[in-house]
Amino acid sequence: MADCLFCRIVAGEIPAKIVKRSGDALAFRDIDAKAPVHVLVIPTRHIAAVRDIKGADGEQLLGRLLAFTAEVASELGLDGDGYRIVTNTGKNAGQSVDHLHFHVLGGRKMTWPPG
Ligand code: AMP
Repeated sequence: MADCLFCRIVAGEIPAKIVKRSGDALAFRDIDAKAPVHVLVIPTRHIAAVRDIKGADGEQLLGRLLAFTAEVASELGLDGDGYRIVTNTGKNAGQSVDHLHFHVLGGRKMTWPPG
């Protein structure tokens, strides 16, 4: 989508600190890190949020995306102390970019429940 920020990062039109790529996913550093490690993992094709994932194709993509996210966390050295994966969906969760993304947060102790 031409006006989607994360689609523009996928297209290379907006710079980002890329961490890892796969056939259908991209991981890059969050521009406003909320933890010592804060990476976003997105599908390269536009899906607005997790609630928009439909059908067998969508389920398979979600599985690959989550496995890719775990690989990224592992490669960033987060397995030992642990990390959090978050996906905000819609206004009550504070989703600010309407392109599905998993936040990977690590490098410090997380509070629970989140605010
Ligand atoms: P959310 O609020 O869950 O939709 O998360 C959107 C995230 O995107 C926020 O943590 C922002 O800091 C991050 N973000 C916004 N613009 C950029 C950008 N150009 N590069 C990297 N991260 C970004």
